[in-house]
Amino acid sequence: MLIPAVTSTDRLSRLRERLAADGLDAAVLAKPENVRYVSGFAGSAGLAVVTGGDAALVVDFRYVEQAAAQAPAFERVQASGPLVETAAEVLRRLGVRRAGIEAEFLPVGTFRKLVAAAAPVVIEPVEGLDRIRWIKTPEEVEAIRRAQQVAEAAFRDVLPMIRPGAVERDVAVALEERLRRRGARASSFETIVASGPRAALPHGVASDRLIGPGECVTIDFGAVVDGYYSDCTRTLVTAPVSDRHREIYALVLAAQDAALAGLRPGLTGREADALARDLITRAGYGEAFGHSLGHGVGLAVHEGPTLSPREEAALAAGAVVTVEPGIYVPGWGGVRIEDMVVLTGDGCENLTTLPKDLIEVPA
Ligand code: ZN
Ligand code: ZN
Repeated sequence: MLIPAVTSTDRLSRLRERLAADGLDAAVLAKPENVRYVSGFAGSAGLAVVTGGDAALVVDFRYVEQAAAQAPAFERVQASGPLVETAAEVLRRLGVRRAGIEAEFLPVGTFRKLVAAAAPVVIEPVEGLDRIRWIKTPEEVEAIRRAQQVAEAAFRDVLPMIRPGAVERDVAVALEERLRRRGARASSFETIVASGPRAALPHGVASDRLIGPGECVTIDFGAVVDGYYSDCTRTLVTAPVSDRHREIYALVLAAQDAALAGLRPGLTGREADALARDLITRAGYGEAFGHSLGHGVGLAVHEGPTLSPREEAALAAGAVVTVEPGIYVPGWGGVRIEDMVVLTGDGCENLTTLPKDLIEVPA
């Protein structure tokens, strides 16, 4: 199925500004989300060649029609051999001197082929080109919101089956089926259903384990809708619920509330992370929160900016990020609560509407 074309003028300008800042006169983009971002083309194989005044999409026979429908602003160039060789011809035809490629993405072998084919055009790896996608347009925010709504509807569908005696994998399969039925092209990633001691694994994909009584059950899930991803985690507790369950759940929720209340443009990723981390550390669980507070979400489920103790870049309005503190106790279990927000002028708006009160699942 073809996806409607997007207006790419503004996005192309962002790329061109970045190229100018790096002293480059072109880019050859290969990463599918970047190609889609600048061109609208959603196929899995295609190279976008962008200069200050021109834009071409190099595709093979399989994608010519799709490229015409989705990337009308781009010249379509059909490759009969390796895409990089045709991209190299386009660079020379357009009189490019120095072209950038995505340093973190292009395989070394492909890079070498491009370098050899493009000479005398100089090919230069560029770090962090994905940054052009960090600030979302209002249309992108709405697409992410729609993905989250699909995910929430699917989660509500399967909520009754998350109880003692259910198999983690059955819950995950049902949730992914509901995501598809509700309109998602796919789930954002392999759905996480982690119960009992497995809930101490931040990325415990569903196993054959039976959910037991008196356990945390962490469900991390998302939907891909119109190319945009969502990401959400909820933790349920099966009866009997202990004081320790209540204490840890309340602490994670308080940490998330503090982050949601304090998150705003201008904070660095480190400062944003600290909004939640300081509270957890003061309560004595600092060692049990071993991952970053959040990450960007958009045409990929994990992108920049990150809310992390190691991130000194400042957050800007329009960024969509997760806020997902967690406490993981080996041998016992864990609690993570994850929402997705968009940064606004003076704070953030939560794109997640699922309730967060502790859900006690009866035996
Ligand atoms: Zn998640
Ligand atoms: Zn996440």
